[in-house]
Amino acid sequence: MEPARVHITTYGCQMNQLDSELVAQVLRSAGAHLVADPRAADVLLFVTCAVRAHAENRVFSNIGKLAARKRREPHLVVGLLGCMAQEHGPAVRRRAPLVDLVCAPGRLADLPDLIAQARGRLGDAEALDPGRDGSGAAAFAASDAALDEAEVRRPLCGSSPGQAYVVAIRGCDNFCSYCVVPYVRGPERSRAPSAILEEVRRLVGQGARQITLLGQAVNKYAAQEGGRRWDLADLLHRIAETPGLARLAFITNHPGAFDERLARVFRDVPGVCPYLHMPAQSGSDAVLERMNRGYTHGQYLDRVAMARAVRPDHAVASDFIVGFPGETEAEFEATCDLVRRARFSGAFVFKYSPRPGTLAAREYPDDVPDAEKRRRNNALLALVEEITAEENKKFVGRTVRVFVEEISPRGRQGEALDSRRSAEPGTRSAELTATGSVLRSAFRVPRSEFPLRGRTPCNRIVVFDGPPSLVGTEVDVRVVDSTPLTLFAVLPESRER
Ligand code: SAH
Ligand code: SF4
Repeated sequence: MEPARVHITTYGCQMNQLDSELVAQVLRSAGAHLVADPRAADVLLFVTCAVRAHAENRVFSNIGKLAARKRREPHLVVGLLGCMAQEHGPAVRRRAPLVDLVCAPGRLADLPDLIAQARGRLGDAEALDPGRDGSGAAAFAASDAALDEAEVRRPLCGSSPGQAYVVAIRGCDNFCSYCVVPYVRGPERSRAPSAILEEVRRLVGQGARQITLLGQAVNKYAAQEGGRRWDLADLLHRIAETPGLARLAFITNHPGAFDERLARVFRDVPGVCPYLHMPAQSGSDAVLERMNRGYTHGQYLDRVAMARAVRPDHAVASDFIVGFPGETEAEFEATCDLVRRARFSGAFVFKYSPRPGTLAAREYPDDVPDAEKRRRNNALLALVEEITAEENKKFVGRTVRVFVEEISPRGRQGEALDSRRSAEPGTRSAELTATGSVLRSAFRVPRSEFPLRGRTPCNRIVVFDGPPSLVGTEVDVRVVDSTPLTLFAVLPESRER
C-alpha cells in the first residue's frame, strides 16, 4: 500500500499542540507523508479537546462536513484523536459515523498500526487508555514510554520557530468538580528529569530558544531519579543551565501548590520568565469549594503577592469559569473583586459547561441561564481588559525584549488575515512567505518588512514591523502604543510610521 498522506487538525490547548507534533513524529518515522492541505490527504486526523461542550460541537460539525467527500472517496480515513476519543470511545460513531479510527491521548504511538488497520478495513481501529480504575499510573507505563521516545526524538517544529513545548507531567489528579481532564488524560505522571533534560538539550541544539514546560498542574511536578527527589524548582534550575536557552516558562500552575520555593525560582534562575499562569477560576470561597479547587480567594491573593514580592513586575494570568452551578450575583461580584485586586495581565473566561461523568454534572444542576452566563462572561472580560489596558499603557515609551514568534496574522488595523498555519513543520517557512505577500499589500509596509508578532518575557503580545529573519529570535523594541491585548512597537533604528 502507498504511504499514507496525513493531515492533522488540532483543537484546544498547548498540550494538544504538542500531541499533534508527536503524532507527526510517530507517523513520519513510520514512513507516512504529512501534508499541509487536507484536500491532498487520504488520512484526516483530528486532535481534539473535551473540556467544554462548545469545543466538542465544533469537532463534530467539522467532521460532519466531510460526508460528501467521504462518499466520493470511500477510502478516506477519518481519525478522532485525543481527549474526545478517550471520553467517547467507540460510541463516538453514533454521533460521528464518519469516524474510522479512535485513539486516546496516551496511545498516540499506536497510530501507524491503527491507520494501517483503518486503511485495510481490518476491523475496528481503536486504542484507548486503561482508564483510572485500573492499576493507576502503572497501567500507563508502557504507553508513556512510547510517548517519551517519540517526544525526545521529534525534530524542532511546532507552531512557531525557536519555541518548543515539553511535557513535564501527564494526566491530572486534582478532580476539580467541573473538569473532564482527569478522566480523559489519566492519573498524574511526572516524566523522568533525565528524559526532559535530554529533550530540552536536543531542541535547543536544533535552534529552540524558548522552552515551555507543560502540565495540568505543572507545579506539582515530583519525580524520583538518581537517588533523590526532584520538584519543579529543581528541574527548572537544571534546565536553565542548557547553553543557548534564552527563555523558560511553565504552565499551568495550580494555586494550591504554589510556594515560596517556586516563587524564588523567578528571581534566582536566569531565563525564567516573570509570567505566572495560575488560574483562580472564581473569587468566591463558596464557589471555589463547590469546584473542589482546594484554596480560598485569600490564599490565592497571598500566592500572587508571594510571586510579586520576588519580582514586582510579575505578570499573573488566570482562567475563570462564570455561571458555575449556583453562582449568585454576589459570588460573581466576588470574582470581579478578585480581578480588581490581582490586576491580571490577562485572563481566559469560560461559561460553565457541564461535562458528562464529572462531579458537578452529577450533583449540581446547571441553573444559571445561558443569557446570564453570557452577561457575566462579557462583564468579566470587560473588567479584565480595563485593567490590562491600564497595565499595558505603562509600557509605552519603554524598551522591551521581544521573542519574535511569527509574522502577525493580524495587523495594526485588526483585520483578520488567514495565516494559513501549516501542520507540516517542513512547510512552515514556505507558508510564511506566502502569507507575507498577502500582508505586505494589506499593510503597505516596505517589501523587506512585515508586521511581526512576539512576546515580552511577561508574555504580553507585541506587534511591530521588521524583517522576517527576526522570527525565532529575541530583539529589543520600543513600545509606542498599546491596547488591552497588544503592545505596538518599533525597532530602534526604524522610522515611525
Ligand atoms: N489544568 C488547567 C486547566 C485545563 S482546562 C488548570 O487547572 O488551570 C482549561 C480551562 O478550561 C480551565 O482552567 C477552566 O477555566 C476551563 N474549564 C474546564 N472545564 C470547564 C467546564 N466544564 N466548563 C467551562 N470551563 C471549563
Ligand atoms: Fe482540570 Fe483541575 Fe486538573 Fe486543571 S487542575 S486539568 S481544571 S482537574
